Parts: sequence; structure tokens; C-alpha cells
Amino acid sequence: MDTFLEKMRQRQALCWLNPDYEQPGEALPCGLGDILDAEARLFRFAPLLAELFEEAAEQFGVIESRLLDIPRLGKELLPGGKLLLKADHDLPVAGSVKARGGIYNVLCFAEEVCLKAGVLSCGENYRKINTPAIRELLGRYTVSVGSTGNLGLSIGTIAAALGFKAKVHMSCEAKEWKKQLLRSRGVEVIEHAGDYSAAVAQGRKESQMDPFSYFVDDENSMELFLGYSVAALRLRDQLRLRQIFPDKDNPLFVYLPCGVGGAPGGICFGLKMIFKEAVHCFFAEPVDVPCMALGLATGKNDAISVYDIGLTNKTIADGLAVARPSSFVGKLMKNLLAGCITLTDERMEQFRQQAKTLENLKIEPSAAAGFAGPEMVLSGDFCRLRKIDPARVTHILWTTGGRYLPE
Ligand SMILES: *Cc1c(COP(=O)(O)O)cnc(C)c1O
Repeated sequence: MDTFLEKMRQRQALCWLNPDYEQPGEALPCGLGDILDAEARLFRFAPLLAELFEEAAEQFGVIESRLLDIPRLGKELLPGGKLLLKADHDLPVAGSVKARGGIYNVLCFAEEVCLKAGVLSCGENYRKINTPAIRELLGRYTVSVGSTGNLGLSIGTIAAALGFKAKVHMSCEAKEWKKQLLRSRGVEVIEHAGDYSAAVAQGRKESQMDPFSYFVDDENSMELFLGYSVAALRLRDQLRLRQIFPDKDNPLFVYLPCGVGGAPGGICFGLKMIFKEAVHCFFAEPVDVPCMALGLATGKNDAISVYDIGLTNKTIADGLAVARPSSFVGKLMKNLLAGCITLTDERMEQFRQQAKTLENLKIEPSAAAGFAGPEMVLSGDFCRLRKIDPARVTHILWTTGGRYLPE
């Protein structure tokens, strides 16, 4: 433990295996039924989304990414290995993994407002929401959020499109182009000098004072989490189309970039509910911001931050610049997450370039964090301890942002 913390302090790249993984633990606050419920809600809203967003119309309002072969990149990362890439960097409407949880969370709120007001019933065509009377109703509410960039892009875009007033508190890392894109979509952007937690705290506080304000709480939202979890159902279908049926001896290893933990946590939860012992999830974090690894390894969860061990929370991976993990996701990951890896910004940048030159994929640095996973996990003890034949593993790199990156 101490040597592990020492390595972390020294910003060394490391692979941490979770000793509590798959151990019996506390009952989870949600399950497969909640994932299916979220999927059903997304289908109810699909016709509306197809109408609101040209980009989503192609897939009839179902916002989903492709599962890609990456032969050239795969050869560089793990010669002879089976690698696939889940292209959430290219998700329509929000351009990042946040399209899953963020859009879903705002849809939940819109549905709740409409049902309570009696202007919509569950069986109706939800395109009705895009009519003047209901838009006027939604326009009385403000939807707000605190973000390092991409969550703001997701929440702001969907909220404004539905007719809500939309307000995004951006932390210092947020890129200028993300703020400009949001403003062009009719969203009020408030710039903060502080880090992610400070922007969230400020947004939360402001929102609490206004009864017509709804705050999407990235550190605590179950709706966000469940929105992300639906990705697991979609991935299962995409694997089936490829005749891939994972089991204990032919498992999936999934590598997910991690910030506060909501996106990778929700996806990991969904995958474990569906694939059980046939999937193992690993989170990837920058060496300067290993907040989830730190929280889990010390057992302190969100009571410890990367600043406490002398790290800076400075990274080129803006989506991952989060100094302490979500308390509720940290707890949920205790028995569901196989481990964490960390990597330097230099490697992330190198992976980002390789994705571009070898596979013509436009991704943000954050989105490349998982690329270090296959080699790092296979060179550790994980397979040996679990008697897994490394040759039978299918590795899935989850890319998380980039669609709207300027040239
Ligand atoms: C937000 C984000 C992540 C991580 O999601 P968290 O919910 O913060 O853990 C990863 N990559 C990108 C590009 C992101 O925007």
C-alpha cells in the first residue's frame, strides 16, 4: 500500500488491481431493471431527438456509436491481440461519452415536468414535447451543470434544444471552443477560475436558491449513471453481430478513461450486470490525477484528493481533470471494478496521434487514456491470478470524446 502511494506521489505509471473485486459486498442501489427502464425511456424519446437533431435522425433518434476494428492501431498497442474500439468520441449531438448520461438525465427531468403538469402521458408520441405549449412550460425552468467541458456541452445542448433555459458552469480546464460552441447553441456559459469541484459546488449552490432550477449533479446523479449504463446493452448487441459471445474463459477487458467516475462507472456497472464474470473493466487516469485509483486503493473514496498527496490535477486530458472521485460511484465500484491504470500526458498525446495517423480517428487526449490498458494489464498479474489465457481476451478501448474538435 505504502509503496503504491509512493509510486503515485512520484507520478509513476502503474497498474492497480482491486483486492475487493468480485468480492461479496453491500447490496447495490440499482440493478438490471433500472438499465432496461433507462433504455425504454431513451426509446420513448427517440422520435423527438430525431426531430430536434439532424445528426440523430440517421439512427432514428437513438444516439449510439460504432464498434470499430482497429487493425493498424491494434498492431502497435498489442501485437497479435484482439482489439476493438468503442467509438464514443464520435457520439452525435454531444461529441463525447457525455451524450449518454447527460442527455438521458435532462430527458428524465423533462419527462417528469411534463407528466406532473399533465400535458403528456407515457404512451403518447414524445414529439409532442416540441410544440409551443410544452416548450413554454419547460422554458420556465433552468437546467444547470458544472463541468470541465464535455458534460456542459451535452447538458447545455439538450436542455436548450428542449426549450429549457440552460446554464453551464465551466471549470478552468474547459477549452475555449467548447464554450463558444455552447454559446452558439443558446447556452449561458459561466467561466470559473477554479477546478472542477469548485465549478460544481458553485453551480449546485446557485441552483438550490432557485425553485425553478434543476442542477445535474455529476458527483451524485443516479440518472446520469443509469444513462451511461445503457451502453452495455448496446455493446452486447454489437458484439453479437460479430459473433462474439464473451464468457469466463473468453472474456472482455474494457478500458475506460475516468474523471469523476460517472461515465466509466455507469458503463462498468452496466457491463457487469449483463456480462458478469465474462467482463473485466479497468479505468485509465493521468498520472497527475489518479483520483479513482487513489480513492479506491486507500479506501478513503472522496475523502482524499490528489492534492492531498502532492499532485497538481494538471493534465492535457481536460475531461479527466477531477481531483476527487464521485462518492457514490466510488462506493459502487468497490466490488465491480477490476483495477486502474495510470499513464503520462506524453503517452496520451502519442496515442492520440496514433489514432489519427493509423486509423484516421479524431479524438481528444482524454479519449486515448485507455490505450495503455492492454499492454499494462497483460504484463501484470491479473490473467495469471484468474487463470485467464491472454490469447482469448477481447480488448475494448473506449474512446470518449472528439467529434467536434476543431482542426
Ligand atoms: C467526462 C469524460 C470522461 C470521464 O467521465 P467521468 O464521468 O468524469 O469519469 C472521459 N473522457 C472524456 C473525453 C470526458 O469528457
